Amino acid sequence: MSKHPETLALHAGWRRDSATNAIAVPIYQTTSYQFDSTEHAANLFALKEFGNIYTRIMNPTLDAFEKRVAAMEGGVAALALASGQAASAFSVQNLARAGDNIVSSTDLYGGTWNLFQNTLKDMGIETRFVDPANPEAFANATDDRTRVYYAETLPNPKLIPFPIAEVAAIGRKFGIPLVMDNTAAPVLVKPIEHGAAVSMYSTTKYIGGHGTSIGGVVVDGGNFDWEAHPARQPLLNTPDPSYHGAIWTQAVKPLGPIAYIIRMRVVLLRDLGAAMAPFNGFLFLQGLETMPLRMREHSKNALAVAHFLAGRKDVTRVIHPAFHKGLGAERTAKYMPHEQGGLVGFELAGGADAGRRFIDSLQMFYHVANIGDARSLAIHPASTTHSQLSAAEQEATGVTAGYVRLSVGIEHIDDILADLTQALDAAGGAAVKRAAE
Ligand code: PLP
Repeated sequence: MSKHPETLALHAGWRRDSATNAIAVPIYQTTSYQFDSTEHAANLFALKEFGNIYTRIMNPTLDAFEKRVAAMEGGVAALALASGQAASAFSVQNLARAGDNIVSSTDLYGGTWNLFQNTLKDMGIETRFVDPANPEAFANATDDRTRVYYAETLPNPKLIPFPIAEVAAIGRKFGIPLVMDNTAAPVLVKPIEHGAAVSMYSTTKYIGGHGTSIGGVVVDGGNFDWEAHPARQPLLNTPDPSYHGAIWTQAVKPLGPIAYIIRMRVVLLRDLGAAMAPFNGFLFLQGLETMPLRMREHSKNALAVAHFLAGRKDVTRVIHPAFHKGLGAERTAKYMPHEQGGLVGFELAGGADAGRRFIDSLQMFYHVANIGDARSLAIHPASTTHSQLSAAEQEATGVTAGYVRLSVGIEHIDDILADLTQALDAAGGAAVKRAAE
């Protein structure tokens, strides 16, 4: 099979339907699957044989989606889930339980921050947040109960690529896997190739690409030796009472290096039930087919927008991976040298008022709390997603009063720049008028 994402997106993991020869992946809208015999049923439940049992834990439509994502990501297997939030939660809960801790980058999507800071904490899992500027901070925050390192490849608002290889290497010395949320940079960055053990997505964003469905997926890199430090990963190296005492690293050895993702499927998905619907899996397969093309267009348009904004007098700062200086520039050169994705941030000289006026003046861009849609999207975080934070907290997360986030779409660049121009003029014009009054 090809290594090229454009080809994998169309062909990996599926050729045709064995029952009908259909080449599109059918939507297997079924809850259950008839067993051939009692022996067949018993073998499936005992994991002696792989096959469909019940759609909460596997489904043929989702199987094709999972195989395709795993191939594109350079991993060995994947698990589709109901949302990106479920993927983040499961990626941690699969290794950490009450009394354990994880070390996470501070630069996170707000929903993940809440999950780690509050909900996982209530479940007894502590998160130690560290600044990704210094990879050694991960080592310094590690103790005997640290099970996972967690980060986002291209976190907004700062849009500085995360030092994946550096932190993954530190983790491997301790037996701690690095989980990368690669939602903002599919195709552009392959975290597993840089040493991450696990890559995960909110498929709601670029994988779906059309703003239709909520979903998530976790990919097992198959590149992590879970047995090298067995005391470090007890959930994979000690008998699991919920599965007849199975030791996951041993039980699935004949099937390949898939202990992590198998446990997530047959324990967490079985028990917590955050399954992706088959219809959403079908839509995500449609999204995947054109994702490599879309990522190229998003990247090209976003870079053009960044250059356009840099030339505006009413814009005081442009935030884009290609516009960093110093450490940020080094990280972009290492991890995203060619294309940097569709996100752009900028700051308006007129502060929060100008930010609000700019958003209200947009005609083509949608004002939504999403990213990764084929359409261009915008939000003013200080008055929306980050409005509950104090000014100091907003500043710490990189959100200033005049900061605007754009998820640049794949419309014609002339139309994108025309909408931005008229909205900036309207925002600035109002400020000038007010100043004159
Ligand atoms: N991770 C990142 C980087 C995100 O941007 C989001 C959603 O905005 C999520 C995870 C959560 O995904 P979902 O909304 O699909 O639950």
